Amino acid sequence: MRMRKKKHREARLAACECVHFGRGFEMPAYLEIGCGKGGFICATALANPELNFVAVERNPDVMLLAMERAVSLGLANLRFIIGDAENLAEYFKPDEVSGIYLNFSDPWHKNCHAHKRLTHARYLDIYKIIMAPQAKLVIKTDNLPFFNYTLRSLQANNFDIISQTRDLYSCEDLYNNVQTEYEQKFISEGVKICRVEACI
Ligand code: SAH
Repeated sequence: MRMRKKKHREARLAACECVHFGRGFEMPAYLEIGCGKGGFICATALANPELNFVAVERNPDVMLLAMERAVSLGLANLRFIIGDAENLAEYFKPDEVSGIYLNFSDPWHKNCHAHKRLTHARYLDIYKIIMAPQAKLVIKTDNLPFFNYTLRSLQANNFDIISQTRDLYSCEDLYNNVQTEYEQKFISEGVKICRVEACI
């Protein structure tokens, strides 16, 4: 997501101190990686006050918007990590994560960039460590090549596919779908949404 540096970014991030992830936040929690502006994770946390959520995003300019949204909603069950998913094992103990959401991750269409995809083996290996035995990895994308790659990568890395669709909105069961900002844009353009749910 391209975005200019936000004005007064550091001061505004500091003002969101109460939603920065840190020791003391109650685990287990559900994780969204690459939360962007935070529409999905804020709505999900709001709808499930009895559960805990953590959102990870490496772009501080977009993350700032997500954090300000969480502060304005007064969400006590959501915290944020500004950083790369490759460092997740530094934040979570083994089995601490109840589920992981990847929503409209960058597809990195060139093969030489495959290692940057959030469903590459190097990321799946980290997810496997922090995911609890019953946890699910839930992935939505508009991008078919990325979706096909993800299915292959999940299978090659011993994840079990629980469900999959290349047209989420044609499904009778929408799995309590919460739309993300990217999802709303793609739907308005008539693009089909793919979804896969997997476990270890
Ligand atoms: N989930 C949002 C945004 C999708 S864009 C939505 O659906 O609307 C993908 C986001 O993932 C971008 O904001 C990008 O900065 C973030 N991202 C990509 N790779 C990442 C990584 N390795 N670690 C953390 N965030 C990442």
